Amino acid sequence: MGDVKLEHVTKRYDDVTAVDDMNMHVRDGEFVCLVGPSGCGKSTTMEMVAGLTMPTEGDIYISGTNVTNLPPKDRGVAMVFQNIALFPHMNVYKNISFGLRLRDYDDEEIDRRVERAAEIVQLEGMLERMPDEMSGGQRQRVAIARAIVRNPEVFLMDEPLANLDAKLRVHMRTELQRLHKELDTTIIYVTHDQAEAMTMSDRIAVIDSGQLQQIDPPLTCYNEPANLFVAGFIGSPAMNFVDGRLTDAGFESKNFSVEFDPADLGLDAGTDVTLGIRPEDVYLADERESVGDPTMVIDAVTDVLEPMGDEIFVYLLLSEDAETGMDAQDSPDQLLMSVDPDSAIEEDENVDVVLDRSRVHLFDTSSGEALLHGLVAPAQAEGVTETEAESDD
Ligand code: ADP
Repeated sequence: MGDVKLEHVTKRYDDVTAVDDMNMHVRDGEFVCLVGPSGCGKSTTMEMVAGLTMPTEGDIYISGTNVTNLPPKDRGVAMVFQNIALFPHMNVYKNISFGLRLRDYDDEEIDRRVERAAEIVQLEGMLERMPDEMSGGQRQRVAIARAIVRNPEVFLMDEPLANLDAKLRVHMRTELQRLHKELDTTIIYVTHDQAEAMTMSDRIAVIDSGQLQQIDPPLTCYNEPANLFVAGFIGSPAMNFVDGRLTDAGFESKNFSVEFDPADLGLDAGTDVTLGIRPEDVYLADERESVGDPTMVIDAVTDVLEPMGDEIFVYLLLSEDAETGMDAQDSPDQLLMSVDPDSAIEEDENVDVVLDRSRVHLFDTSSGEALLHGLVAPAQAEGVTETEAESDD
């Protein structure tokens, strides 16, 4: 039972609230990534679970035991940090077994544990090597093996791959997933890299300003973000946001509107709302068949094109007075669209675009809370009514 529970955990440093009334339950055997921008409280949360930092308020439970006042060594956790601190004058075997020697395990037990850990992280045959004879990835595996030999109930990893080059990071991601499968223990993993979080986690905990915003499987965070923060943070490039209002006829903004009946969706006309649409859900109108039931056509002019190889990002300007360049990043006059790499699209071209209605998100602009994910299309709704009417005949 290696589950971890945080109950109303707060950490204050003078006037900074690093973690703010955090409630979180990481289940036994789960791989949970804590993600969020720099300074949002990820490391502080982790340090409190590890016992390196005391919460100002609240309680922490590991495997059902209240560990809030227990020292790190009595919590059944092992940590792996970003900065790999190996003893340079000790070989791999001695580095991995160091903690066990301090705890007076006998030689046979130490041998057994080191060999198993070395096998798991695939360092067999390297036990005699010195740290300066190893690559960054191998050294990080030594650090992980050192955590494994302690048989922790919970692994705490704080940006363990941050110092590795991009290719090695991708490789180590798969290794960590394999490790998690093999060890079947709980892993809490801090990263600011959402690709890492998306690919490795069972669930992602998105944190902003010390507060938990959403904890859900990666695709739920992507497809059904709980609020504007999660919607903007998960996904690269980020979701497009367009500020507008709900009217009796649907969504209205400066440059375009989307027709639907708010009452059908349980929404109130008059509310200030922000429409969210991901770049891959914006289409050229002449490809609209692929969308199923698109929104009405939006006039746009293509601005900058960014060919990525597998897709092209197209910056669209929605009005003649649209700001361009850096200023346009936050402008509601701009939409980012992703198109196929073989598209003949060019810069400064007039185009008609549509949004995939089933992928439109609406958020309450003032609270940021999600109101709905995916619009029910009026055409489809009418279709259903007609069919029902016919069958009644
Ligand atoms: P993250 O890991 O998400 O980058 P941290 O948990 O390190 O964020 O920090 C959260 C906030 O708490 C930041 O504003 C940081 O400056 C502050 N903080 C962290 N540790 C301390 C400390 N020891 N003393 C004062 N402020 C701190």
